[in-house]
Amino acid sequence: MKTLPELFSNNQKWRVEIEKQHPGFFEALGKQQSPEFLWIGCADSRVPANEVVGLMPGELFVHRNVANLVNHTDLNLLSVLQFAVDVLKVKHIMVVGHYGCGGVKASMEDVPLGLIDNWLRQVRELYLRNRKNLAGLPDDQARLDKMCELNVARQVINVSNTTVVQEAWRRDQELTVHGWIYGIGDGVLQDLDIQIQGNQELRTLENNEYDSCSG
Ligand code: ZN
Repeated sequence: MKTLPELFSNNQKWRVEIEKQHPGFFEALGKQQSPEFLWIGCADSRVPANEVVGLMPGELFVHRNVANLVNHTDLNLLSVLQFAVDVLKVKHIMVVGHYGCGGVKASMEDVPLGLIDNWLRQVRELYLRNRKNLAGLPDDQARLDKMCELNVARQVINVSNTTVVQEAWRRDQELTVHGWIYGIGDGVLQDLDIQIQGNQELRTLENNEYDSCSG
């Protein structure tokens, strides 16, 4: 078990090491940030955004919450998104889910958990819409894996439909929304082959989602 003083001594070692490798790093960083990526990921402690993709401080703008959700009434996420798109002018937004997500799993079970059920309600709806298809998969593990992937696709649709992204596309700002998934058990990050650069691709993704639910 780590003690709190250890965390501060780790911090000292970390900053000395970075300054040794990149002299003047923190002074330059103190003046500005210009990340090209916005990462929307799960709050799970096993999915540390910068480490997973090997990026330094200043290179990745990050928003994390339980089950990497994009809710259109979430002022926290929308403010991060607006700053990232309008001010930092990030070129890529990646929604990054992960296999074995506890939030997604909870949304698939008939056990009330209290307040968080409100947060997870949209994942629950997604699960109920897909329940028939998911039943055809071999086991619970496969169903959870698939739901984690479906959740990423759904959140890509949600982020693409925000006023912030819609307005960016309307003014021809270069901005792509991606859907990725991370494997906690093997450390592998995968592209789910979702890249949305405008409303045409968005409508295709929405139609595919609808077809897979009703099929
Ligand atoms: Zn999670």
